[in-house]
Amino acid sequence: MSFDPARSLSDLERDLLDGFLRFEFEGAVTARTQVDSARARSGCDCGCGTISFALDHATEATVESGPPSLVPVEGTIIDHDGEVVGGLLLFLQSDGSLESMEVYSSGSPLPLPDPGTVTWWRSDETQHPTTPSSLADQCTSLTHEICRPRQRT
Ligand SMILES: [Zn+2]
Repeated sequence: MSFDPARSLSDLERDLLDGFLRFEFEGAVTARTQVDSARARSGCDCGCGTISFALDHATEATVESGPPSLVPVEGTIIDHDGEVVGGLLLFLQSDGSLESMEVYSSGSPLPLPDPGTVTWWRSDETQHPTTPSSLADQCTSLTHEICRPRQRT
């Protein structure tokens, strides 16, 4: 993991975060209040666009270290040929604050995608029409290995 200084969210990161937070799920209301003050740094060294959120120090100090939880919304990334090339996952800390936004892929590491290529869907209610089940659970050749063990916690 890299420890470069936290910075403000880019417009793209905010747009993608909004994609998750448009849905109603446990913690969504709290997470929405954090978007404006959220800061981030690169969350992975593999070359993908994964980011880790950094809260202000006062907040960070009160966060108990528990396993992050995966929100029940996924963004599936579809390329120009209509092929599913990866997806986006959002994790919250055990206290409900933003933890990380991860981009995984079925091929080489992906940067954060253009929001126009992302299809949002609820992983706890519906099956995405183009994938028989969550690609994250199904794919065994993910390059983004750092995501895999954490998803299972
Ligand atoms: Zn990565």
